Amino acid sequence: MPDPHRILDGLDPEQQRAVLASRGPVCVLAGAGTGKTRTITRRIAHLIDSGQVSPGHVLAVTFTTRAAGELRARLRALDISGPGASVQAQTFHAAALRQLRYFWPRGLTWELLDHKLPVVAHAARRVGVTTTSETLRDLASEIEWAKGSLIAPADYPARAAEAARDVPFGHDVVAAVFDGYEAAKRDGSHLLLDFDDLIIYAGEILREPDAASNFRARYRCFVVDEYQDITPVQQRLLDSWLGERDNLTVVGDANQTIYSFAGATAEYLLGFTRRFPDATLVRLQRDYRSTPEVVAVANQVIGAATERIPGTRLELIGQRDRGPAPRPAEFADDMREARGVVAQIKHLVNAGTPPAEIAVLYRVNAQSERFEEVLGEAGIPYQVRGAEAFFTRTEIVQAMHKLTDAAGRDDLPADSDAARVVRAVLAPLGLSTDEPVGPHAKARWESLRALMSVVDELLADEPGMSLRRLVSELTIRAEDRHTPERTGVTLASLHAAKGLEWDAVFLVGLTEGSVPIAQAIGHGPQAIEEERRLFYVGITRAREHLYLSWSLSRTGTGRVTRRRTRFLDGIDLDPRRSGRCSACGADLVSPESRVRGRCGSCRIEEHGDELLAALRTWRRDHAQERGVGELAVLTDAMLEAIADRRPADTESLAA
Ligand code: ATP
Ligand code: MG
Repeated sequence: MPDPHRILDGLDPEQQRAVLASRGPVCVLAGAGTGKTRTITRRIAHLIDSGQVSPGHVLAVTFTTRAAGELRARLRALDISGPGASVQAQTFHAAALRQLRYFWPRGLTWELLDHKLPVVAHAARRVGVTTTSETLRDLASEIEWAKGSLIAPADYPARAAEAARDVPFGHDVVAAVFDGYEAAKRDGSHLLLDFDDLIIYAGEILREPDAASNFRARYRCFVVDEYQDITPVQQRLLDSWLGERDNLTVVGDANQTIYSFAGATAEYLLGFTRRFPDATLVRLQRDYRSTPEVVAVANQVIGAATERIPGTRLELIGQRDRGPAPRPAEFADDMREARGVVAQIKHLVNAGTPPAEIAVLYRVNAQSERFEEVLGEAGIPYQVRGAEAFFTRTEIVQAMHKLTDAAGRDDLPADSDAARVVRAVLAPLGLSTDEPVGPHAKARWESLRALMSVVDELLADEPGMSLRRLVSELTIRAEDRHTPERTGVTLASLHAAKGLEWDAVFLVGLTEGSVPIAQAIGHGPQAIEEERRLFYVGITRAREHLYLSWSLSRTGTGRVTRRRTRFLDGIDLDPRRSGRCSACGADLVSPESRVRGRCGSCRIEEHGDELLAALRTWRRDHAQERGVGELAVLTDAMLEAIADRRPADTESLAA
């Protein structure tokens, strides 16, 4: 029997509304930590438990491997798999790749182009421009933006001019390089597909009616987490998945749009109810993740945005008990910063915070090195995470190339022992029998092990499976299997941290040139605002402890060359002490509100827990004074009403 209580447990009334909405379009528009991901996983559980869909019909997508891993972990915890196919929770790219492997037309072959810079360089040379490593990267990311935005090379100059794209060599040259790049990826009937092509081709393939009906029979219910990150080309793919149907649930926060450099836009999120006028729209404002102190800083940082996206003015309202004030720290140089941060980490660990509940987040991956060194010296376990998808990791790409080669060789007897061949290929890449030491070797080993465990499983199901079939099944399933373990301190980029949370978060390297990153400075307010949102994403990862640090010089130079990020200018890190409401950041005017640290003018439902606690205390005191009587009955009803967040009832009671 389905247990509705399990599904609705620990959800507030608004979240429940989103979970219970009847089939059809649902949009949850809400800030960080308000329970969007919790809500969609419960909604999936509800749709399954109530028999509206079966697990295999559900396709849930998001944008980074780690976010997809988080979704899978939460779905696993709800235990809704049942017999048959399970819910698919993947990145857009993994879903597209799976689809391509399934529906790819005969006669054409393809492989994944994992390193596109040499191909861009080749195209640039043919056009006659000399690139540096920076301009080459700029060209590649401009092509990514264009493809993500559904812009063809011929249309690029006009569209780029319209969007005031600031690129090296001018728009016409970029268009020519873009055109050459696309041509270079095709060699007769063999195609090289870059990551944007995966999405483009997956959409194209569904124009074929058989493929479309086949796909649509399989997937009937779609869920998108972090919907603010969708690009036009991904939206087109999503539309082709849907066809004429509207069983789509999206959740997102426009203030967390951090991929617009790649064409992502919150427009689809904000325009959802225009597209689906009968959609259930839910806005969530209560932040369950972070202490009011962290929430107040997040509200101030995003509130200071110079160009706010319409529809993003909802402030977060902290629901948790008070915690420590966020702590800023300035250091003379990088190495001192790393030592200072690690000293704090030690302090937290000694006081009982598990290392897995601590994260050090930075703007670019290169910044992790110093922290790795000092954490290593201190003997604190850690793991490094990049933002890259599982199947783009070097070891997986190498393994798949080698395995594809092996599968294509005709000197292998068709039923040779596939497991042995795979093991022989993976061993030199780092699949040792014993767990290696060192976080990098371990990360490599873990992903290869995920690959190998899928091989063993596929062969257990179907012992005679050919290597060729095995290879085509592999990466996708391995990605589903791969759940990076979280035992030590996490070192991750701000991009990779989205959707996740830790008890203690150290945002490091907070200098101009880093946050905002140098490339954004001087590229207009939009580029800066994207960096601000990234900073906001970082802040809102913290449940309790938030440390913000920066250093003034590069180690060894002794010259002050840096200054603190502009995003901390004017931010009050301890609003309580300086007379701001710890829930909403408003100025505290009356002396009572200053003592309480809350303004009291936020709506009653927003301060329900606090009111509840105050009433309980008040009743206890008065009950002692006067004995329990009518008063207790009256306040019981009030307490219940407030606990239910029914302000109207509370008002009538009071009257
Ligand atoms: P982000 O924008 O960062 O992705 P989110 O909106 O997806 O955040 P969740 O990760 O779902 O938020 O929830 C944040 C935290 O709050 C989680 O630890 C979650 O378990 C908890 N949470 C969510 N809703 C509630 C609730 N109604 N009561 C208590 N805790 C909740
Ligand atoms: Mg989330």
